[in-house]
Amino acid sequence: AKAQGKNRFQFFSEAIDGKVRQDLRLESALRQALENNGTGLWVAYQPKLCAKTRAVVGVEALTRWRMPDGQVVSPGEFIPVAERTGLISALGDCMLERVCTDLGVLRGAGFEFPTVAVNVSSHQLLQGEALVEHFCDTIAAHGESVCRFEVELTESALTDARGATVLEAFRVAGFKLSIDDFGTGYSSLGYLKRFDVSTLKIDQGFVRDLPADQEGAAIVIAVIQMAHALGIDVVAEGVETEAQADFLRANGCDVLQGYLLGVPMPVSELAEYLHKHRT
Ligand code: C2E
Ligand code: CA
Ligand code: CA
Ligand code: CA
Repeated sequence: AKAQGKNRFQFFSEAIDGKVRQDLRLESALRQALENNGTGLWVAYQPKLCAKTRAVVGVEALTRWRMPDGQVVSPGEFIPVAERTGLISALGDCMLERVCTDLGVLRGAGFEFPTVAVNVSSHQLLQGEALVEHFCDTIAAHGESVCRFEVELTESALTDARGATVLEAFRVAGFKLSIDDFGTGYSSLGYLKRFDVSTLKIDQGFVRDLPADQEGAAIVIAVIQMAHALGIDVVAEGVETEAQADFLRANGCDVLQGYLLGVPMPVSELAEYLHKHRT
């Protein structure tokens, strides 16, 4: 049995491919970064613009990470690792701290904007209502107001009862709720009735081939109509062309976000951006 165990170990160790090795490397580097006050982690802000006036109505906070060796890792890579290893809670806390600090910096420079959206993964909801309390405490400690904050959650956060409780706690505390990647999840639409969702974000997959893509166009139009009938605002993500922006505006989409309007940028550049887009 011992020999067999050894063989099995050998088998597994050989099966540890590049991907797993890379994930282990990311995990230990991320753990270290978080133990070190989040060294190498920062927040990039992407503007959200009113589709009609192009006034800046808010920003989305997106996490960025430069590892000690200078390599920049995208959240698409390290967020799943953080979720799997439970580091997502510490990462989320660290990012919220940064966002609050950055809001203070912007205010010092004379800039205020209505909302800042932070992404909250379903894994973070496992912390229960303590998560909401912690968010509130952090925001209050920085002298910021909860009502400026929006949490972006994917539909998967709404499918279990536990997640739903936390969501309701966020809402009661005064956070705006935004459904991210709308249309890509597997959940029913019933939650739109049950929760006071303020925004739906149409996934960029539906926006990409507009306006030529007839199915995409039909889905986008239907989502906007449904959302508006429910008193919910619609944000389109991944807007890269004027043709997409025109189509979305013409069909009543409220807010546009994408490289056409502004790429995710560090807070210093955001101040310049806001200065240029001052209304
Ligand atoms: P997401 O929340 O759906 O964010 C939108 C992603 O699309 C971002 O990628 C953004 O940089 C990118 N994007 C924005 N405009 C355009 C465009 O015009 N065209 C294209 N092709 N892409 C565009 P990013 O920053 O790499 O983030 C990827 C995902 O990682 C996010 O998707 C979000 O789910 C997750 N994420 C990022 N930061 C955090 C965080 O602090 N916490 C959590 N839990 N998740 C995060
Ligand atoms: Ca998002
Ligand atoms: Ca999204
Ligand atoms: Ca509403």
